[in-house]
Amino acid sequence: MAAATSPVAEPGGKLVPGRWFDGLSSQAKPVLVGLQPTPKGPSLALHPLSQPGATPTVFTWGEVGWPEAWSERRPQQRVVVDLRDHGSLEIDAVAQWHAALAAAGGRPSLAGRMQTRWPVLLGVTAVAIVGLTLFYRYGTPWAATELTRFVPVSWEASVASNVLTQMDKGTLKPSKLSKERQAQLQARFDTLVQQVPTGLQRYPGYRPTYTLSFRSGMGANAFALPGGTVVMTDGLAKAAEKQGLDDDALIGVLAHEIGHVAQRHTTRMIVQQGVLQMGMGLALGDVSGIVATGASVLTGLAYSRNHEREADCFAIALMGHAKLPTAPMGKLLLAIAKDEDGEEKAEKKKTATAAKEGASAPAETTAPRKDSEALGPVWSLLSSHPDTVERAKELEQGHALHCPKPA
Ligand SMILES: [Zn+2]
Repeated sequence: MAAATSPVAEPGGKLVPGRWFDGLSSQAKPVLVGLQPTPKGPSLALHPLSQPGATPTVFTWGEVGWPEAWSERRPQQRVVVDLRDHGSLEIDAVAQWHAALAAAGGRPSLAGRMQTRWPVLLGVTAVAIVGLTLFYRYGTPWAATELTRFVPVSWEASVASNVLTQMDKGTLKPSKLSKERQAQLQARFDTLVQQVPTGLQRYPGYRPTYTLSFRSGMGANAFALPGGTVVMTDGLAKAAEKQGLDDDALIGVLAHEIGHVAQRHTTRMIVQQGVLQMGMGLALGDVSGIVATGASVLTGLAYSRNHEREADCFAIALMGHAKLPTAPMGKLLLAIAKDEDGEEKAEKKKTATAAKEGASAPAETTAPRKDSEALGPVWSLLSSHPDTVERAKELEQGHALHCPKPA
């Protein structure tokens, strides 16, 4: 590294006085620092003052840990240059150092420019925000969809069995439907599963064991757990009966739930949260936990909406393939949504009246809890409540513009 350069013939400009702590002796060596332009950036030469005329020690641009650029508003007392294995260099003549560095073609690093120039800082921030937004919106769903291929169906089945056990201990009660009625619906469900065309398989080779379970203890609903478990409530069967709809309405709902399973929505969502946390960790370090939680709540809503639409498209395609109508399912969906709205309004009225009378209402009645909320991460029929009217219309028509064209 030591190139012979005379301190007299220093083409890079003036020499700057400094102290070199070479890491070998505890005493600082007084030196004169010379900066010379090279194609890769300035080189740094140290001329020991104790030995005038001796060969200087020269460091190339890459061998020096260049200090951050300075801000004119916050003048530095001293510049410290990291010489890595060769210790460090302290310079008190700060202005002289910067002038010599600029004369030798030294450009401040990006981090240095961010400290000194607001437009650069704003630009970098804007690029980071756009990058992260694109990453959430397109990167994570894509990565999750791809990574889900590697998740074994046995893992999904164990998650499902845990979730259902928890729900059975909580809200869910055993079904009161007769054995005959259950067997009747079970048979139609099994036939429907057999009729899923290969063209509808998003994950080729994915063969979950589809099972239909009956429960009560919540309103009219149906939901899918990963790995093939579909649950239908007595309330759903009752709602269809009340509307005078035949079993095609219920079968349509089950087709929608089979869609959630076949498209592995729950697994994709879980994998996506993992990808999001990891990505945020890489991008933001320590604050990632807070930001990722907020972001996953916000993006979770958008994804669940997409998943509902995907499951609807699956139902439309499967019912079409099985030569069954989707209109009854649309009517059922709408009727349930209207019922829920009515209950919610009645609940609000009750709460308002209670508040007016000054009665301290118990917590359960002040905060009406919808079944769809009680389900948490599970995909349920009504989890995208605001879209229900639009969805019901599409189902009644038997087609939706957003669905992929059948192959
Ligand atoms: Zn759904």
